[in-house]
Amino acid sequence: MIRSNPEELIRDTMARFVDRELIPRAKEIDERGEFPRELFRQLAAMGVFGIRYPKEKGGAGGNCTLFCIIVEELARGLMSLAAITAMQSLMGTNFLFHFGSAELREKYFHPAMRGEKVGCFCLTEPEAGSDLGNVSTLAVRTADGYVLNGMKTWVTSGPVADFYTILCQTDPAKKFRGLNFFLVPRDTPGLSCGKPFEVLGTRSTALCEVALKDCLIPHEHMLGGEGQGLNNLMSILAEIRTMTAALAVGLQRAALGDSIRYANERAQFGKTIGNYQLIQAKIANMATDLEASRLLTYKAARMIDQKIPCMTEASMAKYFATEAACRAADHATRIFGAYGYSMEYTPQRYYRDNRFLLYGGGSHEILQTNIAKWVGL
Ligand SMILES: Cc1cc2nc3c(=O)[nH]c(=O)nc-3n(C[C@H](O)[C@H](O)[C@H](O)COP(=O)(O)OP(=O)(O)OC[C@H]3O[C@@H](n4cnc5c(N)ncnc54)[C@H](O)[C@@H]3O)c2cc1C
Repeated sequence: MIRSNPEELIRDTMARFVDRELIPRAKEIDERGEFPRELFRQLAAMGVFGIRYPKEKGGAGGNCTLFCIIVEELARGLMSLAAITAMQSLMGTNFLFHFGSAELREKYFHPAMRGEKVGCFCLTEPEAGSDLGNVSTLAVRTADGYVLNGMKTWVTSGPVADFYTILCQTDPAKKFRGLNFFLVPRDTPGLSCGKPFEVLGTRSTALCEVALKDCLIPHEHMLGGEGQGLNNLMSILAEIRTMTAALAVGLQRAALGDSIRYANERAQFGKTIGNYQLIQAKIANMATDLEASRLLTYKAARMIDQKIPCMTEASMAKYFATEAACRAADHATRIFGAYGYSMEYTPQRYYRDNRFLLYGGGSHEILQTNIAKWVGL
């Protein structure tokens, strides 16, 4: 069937890619735990990384809804690849795109869109997780440029990245108003990556610490006006939360689809287990959670596309869809019985990968606290 609606077209294209290229290899990629270079390049060739950026400036001319459709489909296949895609399309290139000079964009942004360079995003520090006011990586302005010193951690794509968007403090007395983003190329003397982390889920994302020791970078590597780091971060926070909700929708679809198939095949006591009401209840709960997650997620995405402020809606979407993804993975492991505990079947991967969704863009304790405040507490 020929599709003319861009949303249907992108969903169909991504669904075909996921079904043919990703799902058959997802187990092997997850077990190898390596950054999936070849798939990364394939996604670049499909224009996926530029979907949020305008065509005339080197993007693919889409919007947040299309971006969410893409990451949702990828998360249905393999959360690691969806997470890498989200990093490359949003957090890892956003500030470079909006605030980088033409020369910086030519050197890093365009190659990133082509899948030739990997970008990443460094907020978190050993002593600054939820509390970004505590960021202590220092950027000191000198006549030759900025000198950066500090330590970042939990950097997605960090071990394989070619450039780093790093949140630094330029004036500790100003706290939040002293926060600024800087672009630091991998080959900057003084930048070093730690050993890749051993982690529970999303095992192919590649995570590490990034240490900065007297890294000298040119003045024009500051991304955004002086003191605007937090404001600029806030300008994409709703999108980060909505995108994370879309990842959770993808994981729920995978867990639900596999559970239905298994419940229709596995027979006990002379009937397939889908005939038992307690299994039906789990499937019904998963399907209802999925539908509610989808509605919240795409409501927030469309508000972002219409430039309607939606931090509350995006936070609710992230909070609800992610918790629902945890419930879906849990139900799937139960429906599969002992096979849900086996590394040969998918539920264990969903069960591990859903944890990835809980932290980035705000932990659920932070989201709950904020939502309660925003609705009037
Ligand atoms: C797989 C993975 C990938 C990641 N990728 C990146 C990345 O690419 N770049 C990056 O910068 N970071 C990344 N992170 C880090 C992530 O952003 C942080 O984990 C997150 O900001 C929370 O910080 P923390 O883990 O230090 O927890 P903490 O802030 O120490 O929180 C610990 C616990 O206390 C709770 N808590 C904290 N403050 C409050 C409060 N005020 N009220 C109630 N409860 C509170 C939290 O909700 C949590 O339950 C990644 C993390 C993971 C797990």
